[in-house]
Amino acid sequence: MSAAARRHRPFGHWSPESGEPWVIAGPCSAESLDQVLETARALKADGRTQLFRAGVWKPRTRPGAFEGAGYNALEWLQIMRAEVGLPFVVEVGNPLHAERALAAGADAVWLGARTTVNPFYVQEIAEALKGSAVPVLVKNPIHADLGLWVGAIERLDKMGLSDLAAVHRGFFATHPEPYRNDPRWELTFELRRLAPELPIFCDPSHIAGQRDLVESVAQIAMDLALDGLMIEIHPQPDEALSDAAQQLTPARFGALLDRLARYMESADPVALAQSLSADREALDQIDAQFVDLIQQRQAIVERLAHRKLEQGASVFQMDRWVDMLEQREAQAANQGLDPNYVKAFFELVHRYSVQHQAAVYQDQRRDEA
Ligand code: PEP
Ligand code: MN
Repeated sequence: MSAAARRHRPFGHWSPESGEPWVIAGPCSAESLDQVLETARALKADGRTQLFRAGVWKPRTRPGAFEGAGYNALEWLQIMRAEVGLPFVVEVGNPLHAERALAAGADAVWLGARTTVNPFYVQEIAEALKGSAVPVLVKNPIHADLGLWVGAIERLDKMGLSDLAAVHRGFFATHPEPYRNDPRWELTFELRRLAPELPIFCDPSHIAGQRDLVESVAQIAMDLALDGLMIEIHPQPDEALSDAAQQLTPARFGALLDRLARYMESADPVALAQSLSADREALDQIDAQFVDLIQQRQAIVERLAHRKLEQGASVFQMDRWVDMLEQREAQAANQGLDPNYVKAFFELVHRYSVQHQAAVYQDQRRDEA
């Protein structure tokens, strides 16, 4: 790994070596003092983890699952810090958790995906943390609502908690394939545009949902110039009381970090711009042609709408839509393109085509009325 870091605000008192990602690692849940110590000792020996994570109160979707060891776990983490020397971060889901975490001297806290989603909780927690200057990690809300994510960060900031970072842990997926949570990376780009100095970490464990995919997701996060990683580590992952499928052994985690390639957002901006300029111009020309083609297409769509109306036919014609999609997907496959890309593209084109035709129908009715 080698690269110069993007310019961003510092987070906490721990900084990675220049150009290295922040690394937060530890078990999904603190399960016992032994498990905490064993994990922390391995991470400390590896030397690349700045902050030890462990869930103390676990937000489980269904009741009856392991809900965390609570206050006992906070004590284990204090013992771990004294004996092993790693600072720790825990999840706080309500003001009482926040008070207990502060009383235990937690080095940082995080708001989970099920908390960020609710402005009432966020506000109450922000008030409970007020005056502490504790660093706070804000995970994205479960659903892909960037406003709630930004809103939670703003609520904390307004309470004087300015040592903040975002954690991208993916979004609820109706079809969790191949990942448990849909990465929707474009939302991290938008967050970066809105808050350019905010460090954004990635939690590849909760995105992937299975250990074999954690490394590739972590690498994508680095390829996209995210600032750090939060990864779940367990000495015996298969026996973990929560998220057993996605946790890594410390050894596998070390190997992941060894292989991780790190890129700069803009290594040498002048040289980069020069070496990309010809291809970027070519892309700009193609994109300009796209817009011309959209305009031409729109004119034909409008004619079609009038013809359909004359015939008393509906805007949406199922057979035609299925046929068109099949043709384009087959063409994509023939030309070595990802049919899903082409499908998504034409779904968008078709959505606007239908919208435009529906508007023609509406205008016509208004004129006749
Ligand atoms: C966790 O980090 O263990 C956790 C519960 O995360 P999330 O809030 O992202 O589901
Ligand atoms: Mn977990």
